[in-house]
Amino acid sequence: MQHFFKKSLGQHFLVNKSILKKIVSIKDIRDKIIFEIGPGQGALTKEILQNKPKKLILIEKDRNLRSGLLKLQEKFKDTVSYIYDDILNINLKDFNYNKIQIISNLPYNIASTLIIRLIIDFDIVESMVLMVQKEVAERLSAEVSTPYYSRLSVLIQLHAVVEKVFEVEPHNFTPKPKVKSTVIKITPYRKKKKIYDELDRILKISFRQRRKTIKNNLKTFYIDAEKKMLECGIDPNSRPQDLEPNDFVKLSRLLI
Ligand code: SAH
Repeated sequence: MQHFFKKSLGQHFLVNKSILKKIVSIKDIRDKIIFEIGPGQGALTKEILQNKPKKLILIEKDRNLRSGLLKLQEKFKDTVSYIYDDILNINLKDFNYNKIQIISNLPYNIASTLIIRLIIDFDIVESMVLMVQKEVAERLSAEVSTPYYSRLSVLIQLHAVVEKVFEVEPHNFTPKPKVKSTVIKITPYRKKKKIYDELDRILKISFRQRRKTIKNNLKTFYIDAEKKMLECGIDPNSRPQDLEPNDFVKLSRLLI
């Protein structure tokens, strides 16, 4: 059946087989529990199956792709479960696995929101191999005092190691996206870190204006921001992009 691509669902299907193979070879998936987000027409799914995972759970939001995915589920009954839903409505812990891997050519419109949301599940996530748009990969992996360093970099780097693996040009997809893509590997830290409730709020306020000092960004919301910064050894006149991830943790603990 002819499939009409839905831009709103970030549908860019990967058609280059050697890239599909490269993605599934990044991490050993034999006998593992794998979640694939947005399997689409199953191109990456088939490559994952070649590598014999123990279980493969597919989560796809587009109803029109149902029949193809149901067929795959039928064919690989013992391995594949297919869930027709929005990944943003799903709680991975409900599946009761204590160690999973995620592989996905992510829908670009939800990539950063989803990655941040998945942090709460990092205690059961062994690794994530994800295709994201290049800019998101740059932000996730950016080091302090570089142009892409932002809220996203701090949040993810406090909880995981982020590695850029390789770039993928637009012509490898149908339809072609406007931007380049990057395959990344995210490996959560083993030691479970507490998620600081205040941290994300502090990050949003801190990065509102990158050219302003950290003191000026924060002072509208926290009157004693400058005093607290001096107390914990952070220069109130530095720019947000010059603060290390751990400085933001310190700030979030002090400014409650
Ligand atoms: N894995 C396929 C398709 C990638 S395109 C390939 O590599 O060719 C992204 C896929 O994610 C599409 O199939 C799209 O329908 C699906 N998708 C988009 N938003 C989603 C969401 N919120 N939850 C689950 N799947 C989603």
